[in-house]
Amino acid sequence: MTPFDKPVYVTAPLLPPLEAVTARLADVWASGWLTNNGRQQELLEAALRAYLGVPQLSLFNNGTIALFTALRALDLRGEVITTPFTFPATPHALAWSGVTPVFADIDPVRLTLDPARVEEAITPRTTGILGVHVYGIPCDLDGLQQVADRHGLKVIYDGAHAFGTRVNGAGIGTFGDITMLSFHATKLFHTAEGGALACRDEAMRERINQLKNFGIIDPETVLSIGLNGKMNELQAVLGLAVLDCLAEEIDRRKALLQLYRRALGDVDGVTMVEEPPGIESSYQYCAIRIDEARFGCSRDDVHRALMNHNVISRKYFFPLCSDYACYRDLPSADPARLPVARTAAMQVLCLPLYGSLPPETVQCICDIIASCRGGAS
Ligand SMILES: *Cc1c(COP(=O)(O)O)cnc(C)c1O
Repeated sequence: MTPFDKPVYVTAPLLPPLEAVTARLADVWASGWLTNNGRQQELLEAALRAYLGVPQLSLFNNGTIALFTALRALDLRGEVITTPFTFPATPHALAWSGVTPVFADIDPVRLTLDPARVEEAITPRTTGILGVHVYGIPCDLDGLQQVADRHGLKVIYDGAHAFGTRVNGAGIGTFGDITMLSFHATKLFHTAEGGALACRDEAMRERINQLKNFGIIDPETVLSIGLNGKMNELQAVLGLAVLDCLAEEIDRRKALLQLYRRALGDVDGVTMVEEPPGIESSYQYCAIRIDEARFGCSRDDVHRALMNHNVISRKYFFPLCSDYACYRDLPSADPARLPVARTAAMQVLCLPLYGSLPPETVQCICDIIASCRGGAS
């Protein structure tokens, strides 16, 4: 097999027709209003509330700032239990806010926080749980909520991967106290940079809106220590145009995932990471696991073989956050306490998935993977 001429990246941003964006931009220009509760962000917020099936939503300039704001809105202090198998933004949001991240191990199938491990990690300083719906696969929502209820803890979800995920029909943003979404360009739905918080009641949304605008409640009253987390009108315009293209993008991704499933289905030692029954996927990632003992070569070997063919797969998530220099000295970061997460981090690989990816390319990628079997590449 000859390498691809141009790199095949793991994702490509969904670009709506430029005319669709400029048409909406004309409205912004006519209004002379670029940010602070503009018309476009109002339109996007309403459209996303309906799309996601959440009662309350607040848009942000990015997902990380949204996560900071969620922690502040719930007044979390002391220790918060989280997963090491995630993107750096998750533990960073805690540490940056003066909260100690406490890593707990994950479930071997879902790859999300294991409620039993969470319960073991609770101390008198624990105030909350920060779960991550990895690859859009929901955490054990009931299990985590039961632990939280038994110990009086708040639950925040990092739903950056879970835009559009539904659990028996319910929007993923209706679980826990607050759910963060990311609209970064690498995510399925995006506003170049952007994000949101979903919550259940109006009072919490008011609090969030206040915190994302410096804590200002009127021109002469600043009530709390806020920051600047507002989404601007240009981001909102892009989001509205992207939203119009989403159904088609998802259909294409569904077909590509079906191709991957078929082509990799009988490769012994390679499994696709997929959601359990009753879950509507976010179609955001194509993650596989490589069991070296059965497959005959390692995840790193496959990653390298793909790279040699100009296919840029991602070891997402490797290394674990608990292995970062800034966290590895925490008692909870001890690798011996996180065996399931360590194994997952050694086995997972995210493969290219985006609507404009040609089906033939998917077939080639699967052929390259299959050819690694037994160490022959
Ligand atoms: C993308 C991502 C974030 C960060 O979101 P930004 O919008 O880029 O700030 C946080 N957590 C996870 C799991 C992510 O994938």
